[in-house]
Amino acid sequence: QPLLLNEFCQEIIEELQITTARHKLTLRSQLSDIPHQIDRKLMRHILTNLLANAINYSPSGGEVLVGLESTEKQIELWVQDYGIGIPQAACSTLFDSFVRGPNVGTISGTGLGLAIIKKSVELHQGQITFESTVGEGTTFRITLPQMDGKLPYHGEAHLCSGTLLKT
Ligand code: ATP
Ligand code: MG
Repeated sequence: QPLLLNEFCQEIIEELQITTARHKLTLRSQLSDIPHQIDRKLMRHILTNLLANAINYSPSGGEVLVGLESTEKQIELWVQDYGIGIPQAACSTLFDSFVRGPNVGTISGTGLGLAIIKKSVELHQGQITFESTVGEGTTFRITLPQMDGKLPYHGEAHLCSGTLLKT
């Protein structure tokens, strides 16, 4: 069901406030007011996973910023943290399945989060990029084309518990 983009993102962010608070992190959001329709499953999946990374790879006491900007042509979403950062050597394989960075230390994970986000974003004709400085922080940025009322983009791409399914 279509829902206003910023309302929906606000909803997800409020759910995630509980997790960020538990990690003693402040979650700030900066959401544009322009109403647009979105693929709710995709948006929830992206936000949940990028925020999980921002939380996991940041020391407590910091801040995580979620931004959303919607124009006629595209939706831009970014998640910024002031965490451990990503070493240059890890950049070329960051989106590969089951590959984790050398920066993870004792933080647990499976190395699938970004791989699945990238696949699903690309299925929706979008892009994912990131900028990072070790010891300073990381920003992941996703752009998705507006879909002019069509839901979802392809009509058949669904994400189901880590597997991309075609129906
Ligand atoms: P999971 O599948 O449970 O998400 P993961 O977090 O290790 O495991 P990805 O989310 O795919 O896997 O991330 C891949 C790697 O990228 C991580 O192992 C980590 O090295 C690095 N990474 C991702 N996000 C961040 C971030 N915000 N700050 C620092 N490193 C990050
Ligand atoms: Mg992850």
